[in-house]
Amino acid sequence: MTTVNENYLKLPGSYLFSDIAHKVAAYGNAHPEKHIISLGIGDVTRPLIPAVIAALHRAVDEMGRAASFHGYGPEQGYAFLREAIAEHDYRVRGVAMDASEIFVSDGSKSDVGNFQELFAAHSVVAVTDPVYPVYVDSNAMAGRAGTYVDGSWERIIYLPCLRENAFVPEFPAVRPDIVYLCCPNNPTGTTLPRAALQAWVDYARREGCIILFDSAYEAYISDASIPHSIYELEGAREVAVEFRSFSKTAGFTGLRCAYTVVPRELKVSDGRGGQVFLNPLWNRRQCTKYNGCPYIVQRAAEAVYSEEGRQQVMDVIAGYRATAARLATAVRSIGLEVYGGVDAPYLWVRVPVGATSWSFFEHLLTEAALVCTPGAGFGIAGEGYVRLTAFGTPEDTQEAIERMVAM
Ligand code: PLP
Repeated sequence: MTTVNENYLKLPGSYLFSDIAHKVAAYGNAHPEKHIISLGIGDVTRPLIPAVIAALHRAVDEMGRAASFHGYGPEQGYAFLREAIAEHDYRVRGVAMDASEIFVSDGSKSDVGNFQELFAAHSVVAVTDPVYPVYVDSNAMAGRAGTYVDGSWERIIYLPCLRENAFVPEFPAVRPDIVYLCCPNNPTGTTLPRAALQAWVDYARREGCIILFDSAYEAYISDASIPHSIYELEGAREVAVEFRSFSKTAGFTGLRCAYTVVPRELKVSDGRGGQVFLNPLWNRRQCTKYNGCPYIVQRAAEAVYSEEGRQQVMDVIAGYRATAARLATAVRSIGLEVYGGVDAPYLWVRVPVGATSWSFFEHLLTEAALVCTPGAGFGIAGEGYVRLTAFGTPEDTQEAIERMVAM
């Protein structure tokens, strides 16, 4: 009989969101009269902007005519989109970028999960704690994580991000090969100040590590001092890969489009005393295993960079930001500490003394019919916090705020 990849058997169940769903369903069944409001939604709720809808219609019509039909496209993405990304997300911000360094895809989750394939099986991985689980699980599936014991993997280096270190990860005692950084962060909603990010780039250059930089929430940055791209930092092109997504920027969670930047300079050891560039390797990987993001979706993504598209997207994000600000004010008014929520759609709320992240979840549910996400679900260092999101409708959020204040 064929044998399974044993690494899959080592994975702990992904219980967080199903546990939440069960508890919410049980409460809902016992209290059918209550309107339960979720402050835990990790998905956008506002519709696609008009510029994107118009581009989709145009592209669909093109697909219906023989003269403008598109079959398989380039695995790396169409030149029109790669150029628009290089120009608007980088060059207008003063960051050098060539379209050949940009690889368009169907989502950052797949890119972030797949990129580890380019590294040796024995590579040592460091992640921040709490963490977006894809970084850890994709390495565990590849056999890089060791064994899962008491909530953590023995071969993964965890870098705690706590209020005590202002949610800035410190350098580990042991040198990792790969470091995942997520900024603005999911789940904490916090950012890395420019100096802290430069220090990580310098560390990676000194120690010979690769930084996998996830900036899925880049569009939410409002503080002018926070870098939008890791390539704004000196030397980053030699050590960093950057992942960006249209999901939270332009509401593409259901449409699916993202991109990964692999600079020309970026190289790693070939294990035999030489060096090898990652850009052609990622190209090879994508050409072998991926057949490209749909034409109509790439035309929709291109429309995000049109003049009206940019304005419409900023208006939507401004709406989510305003919701985050209202939520933060309300949570502070009931005496709780809040982090994040300024440059990200996530708020990281410290639970009251004596509570755990799950007991506070239960409290909010039973006392106010509100749903949050317990921080412990994102890692050991997430205990003591819950995550709230600004993706709910303004009406629901307003009612949630009134209930919290009434508690
Ligand atoms: N990276 C982070 C930190 C995320 O929170 C998410 C989605 O929630 C993703 C990546 C995945 O984005 P995509 O929808 O492009 O797969």
